[in-house]
Amino acid sequence: VVDPDLRAVSTTCAYCGVGCGILATPDGRGGAAISGDPEHPANFGRLCSKGSALGETLGLTNRLLYPMIRCDKGNMERVAWSDALDHVAHRFQHIIARDGPGAVAFYLSGQLLTEDYYVANKLMKGFLGSANVDTNSRLCMASSVAGHRRAFGADTVPGCYEDLDEADLLVLVGSNAAWCHPVLYQRMLANKQGRGARIVVIDPRRTDTVGDDDLFLGLKPGTDTALFSGLLVYLADHGKLDDNYIAAYTTGFDDALARARSMAGSVGATALATGLSEADVAAFFQIYANTPRVVTLYSQGVNQSAQGTDKVNAIVNCHLATGRIGKVGASPFSLTGQPNAMGGREVGGLANQLAAHMAFTPPDIDRVRRFWKAPRIATHEGLKAVQMFDAIARGEIKALWVIGTNPAVSLPNADVVREALKKLELFVVSENVTSNDTVDAGPHVLLPAQAWGEKSGTVTNSERRISRQRAFMDAPGEAKPDWWILGEVAKRLGFGAAFNFNSAADIFREHAALSAFENEGERDFDIGGLKALSDEAFDAMAPVQWPTRLNAQPQARFFAEGGFFANDRKARFIAPEVPVLRTETTAARPLRLNTGRIRDQWHTMTRSGESPRLGQHLPEPFVEVHPDDALRHGVDDGGFARVTTDYGQCTLRVVVSERQQRGMLFAPIHWSEANATGARVGSLVAPYTDAFSGQPENKATPASITPY
Ligand code: SF4
Repeated sequence: VVDPDLRAVSTTCAYCGVGCGILATPDGRGGAAISGDPEHPANFGRLCSKGSALGETLGLTNRLLYPMIRCDKGNMERVAWSDALDHVAHRFQHIIARDGPGAVAFYLSGQLLTEDYYVANKLMKGFLGSANVDTNSRLCMASSVAGHRRAFGADTVPGCYEDLDEADLLVLVGSNAAWCHPVLYQRMLANKQGRGARIVVIDPRRTDTVGDDDLFLGLKPGTDTALFSGLLVYLADHGKLDDNYIAAYTTGFDDALARARSMAGSVGATALATGLSEADVAAFFQIYANTPRVVTLYSQGVNQSAQGTDKVNAIVNCHLATGRIGKVGASPFSLTGQPNAMGGREVGGLANQLAAHMAFTPPDIDRVRRFWKAPRIATHEGLKAVQMFDAIARGEIKALWVIGTNPAVSLPNADVVREALKKLELFVVSENVTSNDTVDAGPHVLLPAQAWGEKSGTVTNSERRISRQRAFMDAPGEAKPDWWILGEVAKRLGFGAAFNFNSAADIFREHAALSAFENEGERDFDIGGLKALSDEAFDAMAPVQWPTRLNAQPQARFFAEGGFFANDRKARFIAPEVPVLRTETTAARPLRLNTGRIRDQWHTMTRSGESPRLGQHLPEPFVEVHPDDALRHGVDDGGFARVTTDYGQCTLRVVVSERQQRGMLFAPIHWSEANATGARVGSLVAPYTDAFSGQPENKATPASITPY
């Protein structure tokens, strides 16, 4: 219920994983004034351009207001909620009875609230009997999850944002934080200006994150593992290891060091492997070796790779070897892309996890089964995003429910994904909008979900901080919370007793209780201290980091003195493979296409595209090209070019720039047919994935460019 006095409501930003606190003051006419929440520990009142423009995105243009079902003539027709829910439940039941639970899937979003995620995951994994629940977070940070689990025995982020204020060296790897995590980047700049912290940026592209006095390492794409392997060797050869930490809290160091020596045994070998100058490699190694307080931040340039998990582990190896982990100003730090990718990880929103950071092991399966009283719990991992859409294309998955995401634009090989959707026997979409590329691909059922500002629940940011998102507007039309929609379908499937939730608070309490069920205090994700919150306490809940164990203080950092989550409580050094990109350039495809975000748009622009102010920064789709490549391929700055890969073609405005490395192109991911440009860059991207994480390699597809 919205405050009738129109006072400021404390909530959290709709966009990135920084998780900034926002004060939203409704204007009584469907809009709201937005400002940063000075009390929120992620941002202390700061907002970036996207967050501060949220008030401009609250209109009802293109808003989905009523449930719709495709009628026999092919048109979408408005129906009552009860009819839509009956239809979804009946069709899922029929397909599962005929083809088994492996024939159905949910595809979720890092934009969902934790409570929505929890109910979706419980329904599919506990009651429908399949683990085919995956999420667009697979495209965002799955390699970090896999790297954490390999090294730490759990998906634990060891540090916190305060470390960015306290570090003396900030190493950003594959992260354009100035555009993609702007408020955290401002904290890093404040540290640089106030305390003299050094910044090193490691990225094939010279982005706005690189300041004039920063060390920039413009390495060859995909070679991060070689760079950090070379660093491990350097640390060992220069007496910079923390031998006590290695001996007490880790295993596998000798194998990891031997592997590192074999691929990057010296500064010269590292320079050769990465395409960097020996002077730059040596400068980086020296600063790192001699600066105890170092935070290494990594984002999509590391994660979105067919060897992303190895990259994460090569970075983590260096922190373990120096004992620089979980200490003030010293940790590896994964920057998550989305506002609630972390919450999704916590409830098991990935196909290879169970709820509450539990795994598909017999004891964990049994524990979750008993807690949920689940009649049909999934006993093995489900299909990860790219595999899931491949299975749809092959006709093996026959029913898909997409909730709050736009896979027809964002997945690699997006043309094939869009065609696959048309093969589904049952295609359900829960959305805020009447048109985007996925909605336009022809679902059988469209369900209106509540949007940011209308829905209520929790999200978790990159530093494990759980914050409330609160409603400050009434939902328009018949839009409902995603958890309610899922719960109503569950009831119609005969699971009413397990889905009898009346509020987000009900779900949060169950989620918290599961996190501490039977093995309280033993796992990383434990919020048992929050399991008995009253409705009022949930409503008033201040941002809090996990773990929040019963009768214990919240814990800002992990692992300063070991305490890892493998059975022997030790961390694992991982010996990574030699970095090799999955694809090769050819005479026909001589360049490599890198994709990413721009500063003022978010994903497929369904919300940020509503703000005229945000549209002014970079108003149209483009491809960035190095001047030498522009000359070689006959394309001009400001003209149009056709970018072609083995998967698709796009026409894009040419931006010639020295920031781009020779041999590389960069194109942003945001535009598509639905926002009237036709430049759907996801259709160009190769669908190769990391063997451990299943995350696709969005950064290095062989491509050609020709004048248009
Ligand atoms: Fe929102 Fe991220 Fe910007 Fe903060 S930094 S205001 S969370 S988009």
